[in-house]
Amino acid sequence: MAKSTGLDVPAPKTECADVNCPFHGSLPVRGQVITGKVVSDRMKGTVVVERDYLHYIRKYNRYEKRSSRIHAHNPPCLQAKTGDMVTIAECRPLSKTKSFVVVEVQK
Ligand SMILES: [Zn+2]
Repeated sequence: MAKSTGLDVPAPKTECADVNCPFHGSLPVRGQVITGKVVSDRMKGTVVVERDYLHYIRKYNRYEKRSSRIHAHNPPCLQAKTGDMVTIAECRPLSKTKSFVVVEVQK
């Protein structure tokens, strides 16, 4: 039985045995919730999520496009793939560069 993450996201249909899964393990999520696109799924258990945002340049009264890449844990029950739009939630640091976890794969 999947436990609640406290976020407004549906629980995945499949189960997993990952301790670092917010639904089936013991990983609490808190802090930021971000939506982005998966640009790499080549690491085991990790995806790279890219987020585009606009930064205002006052001198030109225009926005420039910026992007940031965030490493996020990819639990086996969600299986996010390159090209997927995902929702990621902040959690405790899982490794040197990972402190987010995928909580929803959007269609
Ligand atoms: Zn799971």
